[in-house]
Amino acid sequence: MKDLFDNVMPDLDDEDLNVRSRALNSQPPNDEAEYVLCWLQQTLRAFDNPLIDAAISYANQHRLPVVVYHGMRQDYPHASDRLHYFLLGGSRDVQRGCDERGLRCVSYLQTPKNLEKGLVYRLAKKARAVFAEDHPTFVARSQTVSFASKTDRPVYVVDTARLVPTGTLQLGLKTTPSFRAANKAPRDQFSQAKYDLKALQPLYKKGLGFSDINLRSSSDEDLVDILSTCDIDHSLWVCAEFPPSRGEAIRRMNDFIENDLPRYKWTRNNPAIDGSGSRLSPYLHFGLLGPRELYKAVQKSKAHSAAKWKFLDEAITWREWFHYQAAHITGFEKFDGLPKSAKSTLLEHADDERESLYSIDELIHGETNDAVWNAAQKQWLLTGYMHNNLRMYWGKKLIAWTKDPETAWNTACYINDRLSLDGRDPATYGNMQWCFGKAKPGYREIPIYGWVAPKSSAAVMKRDGVQEWVKVLNNKTVKRIHIED
Ligand SMILES: Cc1cc2nc3c(=O)[nH]c(=O)nc-3n(C[C@H](O)[C@H](O)[C@H](O)COP(=O)(O)OP(=O)(O)OC[C@H]3O[C@@H](n4cnc5c(N)ncnc54)[C@H](O)[C@@H]3O)c2cc1C
Repeated sequence: MKDLFDNVMPDLDDEDLNVRSRALNSQPPNDEAEYVLCWLQQTLRAFDNPLIDAAISYANQHRLPVVVYHGMRQDYPHASDRLHYFLLGGSRDVQRGCDERGLRCVSYLQTPKNLEKGLVYRLAKKARAVFAEDHPTFVARSQTVSFASKTDRPVYVVDTARLVPTGTLQLGLKTTPSFRAANKAPRDQFSQAKYDLKALQPLYKKGLGFSDINLRSSSDEDLVDILSTCDIDHSLWVCAEFPPSRGEAIRRMNDFIENDLPRYKWTRNNPAIDGSGSRLSPYLHFGLLGPRELYKAVQKSKAHSAAKWKFLDEAITWREWFHYQAAHITGFEKFDGLPKSAKSTLLEHADDERESLYSIDELIHGETNDAVWNAAQKQWLLTGYMHNNLRMYWGKKLIAWTKDPETAWNTACYINDRLSLDGRDPATYGNMQWCFGKAKPGYREIPIYGWVAPKSSAAVMKRDGVQEWVKVLNNKTVKRIHIED
């Protein structure tokens, strides 16, 4: 493991923000600056957002205003109506929330008619420093790292996605129990941090040299209309089940805590039960909801401590455990990032005969000979969400249905990242690693899987209502989506 967190901090007055932040380069600050640039990519909330607070803290220290900027490009992997709708909804809420907080906020929507090159670099010119997010996967990581290596402004990244900042945890944690213990101890301390700091300087009112998009008064229907102006995949529809707003995230969180959390520990493995999961993962992934506010709300609830423990073990321990691994393990998103033992046993069986091989088109549209798998896949395609209990089964079957283990990994990540609202996340690749053999080995060596444990659908099929649930999903008509060659 490499220590990514030994770089200097920006020396903020607030200790919580200070330990959440680190420098990505060592450029000197711009003494002629007009503002501090706060660049949002994935943490799309104006409140309880350590990135905005860190930028404000630094700006107050240097008597400068903050400019909050969110850019939506068309060329990120899997850009589609489904994912872009969430970005637009998040951006709308950030604009509204920043207005309430007295912060200047601008969003850029790239379209074929509004193509900007190097916009963050241009905005950075008048900035004393740039504050961005510390994300361990997908474009938020690669864009920020690339920007920091080329700009002549200091770039600080802030841990917005974890309750316990990854950089405060010791290096070399190798097991879930050791991570759980390390992550659990400081939770209360981090949940008590101050947030929503006040910006002390007047709003920055000058032009910023590009055409921004004002979403403040846009309705959900307006957002759908806006999608058609972007050059993205329009074959993958928006998901009505997940309205992209912070208000919805908070409503869902409160509703779940009030009504479903008390029985979560016992119902969570049944996809046929409404409320057996919180369905908060898309909101956590796009940062419309933060782990700190979720932790505090759960702790405050009157649910039984066993129910709270189980939920927080998923929402904080497992979630942050995969963030930790993604930050420290090279190639975490790739087949090569799998532990040696899992990779080698799968590769030893790469040439074993497969009974059925399916094309991406058949897999995406849930057209295999396995009704349970098809139902899970259809839920994903139709709603942007697959129930937790089916995901492991779903992933394991792909090992047997594709020509070799690396193709299986790439197929699983492709479908997950493209269809799932919560995809492209450390939890995506972390769980995929579990699925592909990072967890304890099976009891015996078998064809195709080697020592990787397979999974059957027998247990889930015995749960109340699941047979009916499978039938209902398989009877749904699914529109075909575009598959690249
Ligand atoms: C093959 C496979 C792929 C997966 N891909 C993703 C993914 O792309 N994105 C994603 O967020 N989760 C993924 N998961 C983990 C888990 O299935 C989802 O987080 C969960 O189903 C989301 O539903 P929920 O919000 O109702 O969860 P709940 O049961 O309500 O749990 C609350 C929160 O805890 C977190 N959580 C729950 N289970 C896990 C877990 N196993 N690992 C990490 N965090 C967890 C999520 O943030 C979730 O929203 C995957 C699991 C498997 C086995």
